[in-house]
Amino acid sequence: MLGFLKKVADYSKDAIGAAKYLSQGLSVTFDHMRRRPITVQYPYEKLIPSERYRGRIHYEFDKCIACEVCVRVCPINLPVVDWVMNKETKKKELRNYSIDFGVCIFCGNCVEYCPTNCLSMTEEYELASFDRHSLNYDNVALGRLPTSVTTDPSVKPLRELAYLPQGVMDPHDLPRNQKRAGSLPSELLDAISTKSSQSDNEEMVDNSDNDNQKSI
Ligand code: SF4
Ligand code: SF4
Repeated sequence: MLGFLKKVADYSKDAIGAAKYLSQGLSVTFDHMRRRPITVQYPYEKLIPSERYRGRIHYEFDKCIACEVCVRVCPINLPVVDWVMNKETKKKELRNYSIDFGVCIFCGNCVEYCPTNCLSMTEEYELASFDRHSLNYDNVALGRLPTSVTTDPSVKPLRELAYLPQGVMDPHDLPRNQKRAGSLPSELLDAISTKSSQSDNEEMVDNSDNDNQKSI
């Protein structure tokens, strides 16, 4: 009898545990069902990176004094400073400088401690490549001016997420009637069709004016 009761107790314990885990999983699902989408139509739309975004490092060869502070403060001693000592002037002559972005963790230490401010972090984040060796940037590649989301004519820069109200970045627990910052796809289509019909009408008016002038 005792054995049977123990089995029933174990079974009940397992059932309660399973119900607990099931409800935990479902609560995550229901939480996501109530939130608004935060989709960005990449690569046609891109979010503007924040002001202090730590993207690809920009380097100015002319300002570098080959002091190697950047190497010492880097947690993985990553920057490679290639210099030779000029015996006549008794000064270092910089030959090359490189950073491998396949290894860099973008901590910004090198930028922070560089005594001549020749390093800076840019907003460039599209570094993906098919060959990891091409992520090793030399001083020429590091000296290239960064691309900007706001100056690229082929991209629509987004200051905020179109499905959320203006200035809001958290998609959870928003009232249904709160207006979104962007337009719905159906609203965009309506706007495009209204615009095209207006331009058609204007063309027709122009053509009829020209015909009237010819007949006069
Ligand atoms: S810390 Fe700055 S100046 Fe010194 S080697 Fe590095 S990049 Fe050049
Ligand atoms: S950002 Fe950090 S990891 Fe990358 S080179 Fe500079 S110090 Fe090293």
